[in-house]
Amino acid sequence: MLELMKKICKAEDIMLRGGLDIGEIRGIAFKDPTNGFRAIGYNSNLTGIELLSVIAHEIGHHVLGHFEGDELNMDSRVNKNNSRTVEKKEREAEIFSATFTALVMFVKYADSEVIT
Ligand SMILES: [Zn+2]
Repeated sequence: MLELMKKICKAEDIMLRGGLDIGEIRGIAFKDPTNGFRAIGYNSNLTGIELLSVIAHEIGHHVLGHFEGDELNMDSRVNKNNSRTVEKKEREAEIFSATFTALVMFVKYADSEVIT
């Protein structure tokens, strides 16, 4: 799963970095403050479908254009501005992640099932 997510991030010009092992934070979408490049950090303890869905959520923030102005991060657990706008963006990123994850799992298992 991680290799797939690395390929997608590379194609979308998003830096993907593990090692974000801080408390309960699973992932964060942010812009590198030194150069403004799009980036994602994720908790290295995540595996399998949880890793897939967390990174997909963060990709969603980037590709859906959720960053405004010089805003540097996008995650409700980090961003103290829990406004309605942030909640809407979180819902959109969750829908993106759920759709993405379902599609990946469908493709992964499509050959192993005979649909009649
Ligand atoms: Zn989020």
